[in-house]
Amino acid sequence: MRSEWISRLNYGTLKGPCRINVPLFNKVLNPRTATATRWISDFAALFVPRRCAGCDTTLLRFEECLCLGCEEELPRTRFHEDPANRVEQLFWGKVQLEAASALLHFARTGMVQHMLHRIKYQQDRETGLFLGKLMGEELKASPRFATVDTLLAVPLHRKKERVRGYNQAQLLVDGMRAVWPLPSVGKELMRVVRTPTQTKRGRLDRWLNVKEAFHLPDPEALRGKHVLIVDDVVTTGATIEGCVHALRAVPDLRVSLFTAACA
Ligand SMILES: [Zn+2]
Repeated sequence: MRSEWISRLNYGTLKGPCRINVPLFNKVLNPRTATATRWISDFAALFVPRRCAGCDTTLLRFEECLCLGCEEELPRTRFHEDPANRVEQLFWGKVQLEAASALLHFARTGMVQHMLHRIKYQQDRETGLFLGKLMGEELKASPRFATVDTLLAVPLHRKKERVRGYNQAQLLVDGMRAVWPLPSVGKELMRVVRTPTQTKRGRLDRWLNVKEAFHLPDPEALRGKHVLIVDDVVTTGATIEGCVHALRAVPDLRVSLFTAACA
């Protein structure tokens, strides 16, 4: 009876992928499993609602960052074991990468775009850490990335990081390390040129612009490592090429790439 009633609920602005999970909802409403504390936290959420990073609906207490519908609908690429995947192909004939992959497919409109926008422009660190955790959980199980021993967030220019308050790629690394405890390096690679948003510029322009954008003051610090470069989204791959270009000074270095999304 209660299930029928709940399944007929229209949850605010919910669209297709965000239907209510009836068994979990029943669990929450069941007086035998609901403690006073849970009721209080759910009640408090009515006044300060946490929002789903994918579709903006109010999150239930047991949902972390994404509602159950969005989490189930995440457009995962499952690229990791495919050496000819779309992300790796971006770098063929340009720079040498051991392996490259992305967690999610990116579309200009949609939940992944919404999540990345929140991380980058709305100070939503929680979503960054959450997404990083998903990335870590997925990649640590992948044989092609098994020898990775160091994580490296694509650096932001110092001024840009000061304005934003954080580097979104570093948030992803921090989230990854919560489930895949590898050392991370940050200061080793520096962004020395501010690259403006340049989505409309041609590939050659972008390459010339980012080629000299990174500087590695102490190449010896990374000698012999297998570094995993981490970034939020890969589109043409020009920024990553710039990073790898700067890392070429390191002896016996292997480089791989993992991004939250690929366009
Ligand atoms: Zn959602």
